Amino acid sequence: MIPEEFPATAARLCAACGMCCDGTMFQIVRMQPGEVPAELGRLGLKMRCRDGEYFMEQPCSALVEKRCTIYEKRPVRCRLFNCQQLGKVERGESAAAEAMAMIVETRSMVERVKNLIEQCGLREDGQDLVTRYERVMHTPVNEALEPEMVSVREELDETMRKLKLRLNREFRVPPISH
Ligand code: SF4
Ligand code: SF4
Repeated sequence: MIPEEFPATAARLCAACGMCCDGTMFQIVRMQPGEVPAELGRLGLKMRCRDGEYFMEQPCSALVEKRCTIYEKRPVRCRLFNCQQLGKVERGESAAAEAMAMIVETRSMVERVKNLIEQCGLREDGQDLVTRYERVMHTPVNEALEPEMVSVREELDETMRKLKLRLNREFRVPPISH
């Protein structure tokens, strides 16, 4: 890929995805030295503090229709993050169309997981996907009263397992070892 073309291509891919901002891939985003949590909070981000460490919760409240509405002022980690799909396109290791196909297929797995969570009785409540999945799986089911729930749960568990694998293999960036 011609380097000048990459920003527009990345913007197009991200506009179809949003998974690193919408609570699919991450539960929190840690603040970095020099960042002012109060300023980010004033932008509407859900800032939290635990043991003196600031982070923001996901899904990110600045994400609207898969676009960052505070792009110029987004946190440092957001600026530094390029998922594996974007990285491969930037390095010329895969075509934009391949990355788009991967995004579309993965998003459809996410939608299936959300649908199954709803079938299990948990409506969309603004929490990240893993938390919602775990809440469902930790809720006891009475097999005698709700036999159909057993197969829904099994499908949810299996689809979530595959989704987690895919996000790790194809989207998250492995930590750099020193
Ligand atoms: S996971 Fe990758 S393609 Fe998707 S929004 Fe984030 S950076 Fe963009
Ligand atoms: S601030 Fe913008 S880039 Fe960062 S998580 Fe929120 S929507 Fe995504």
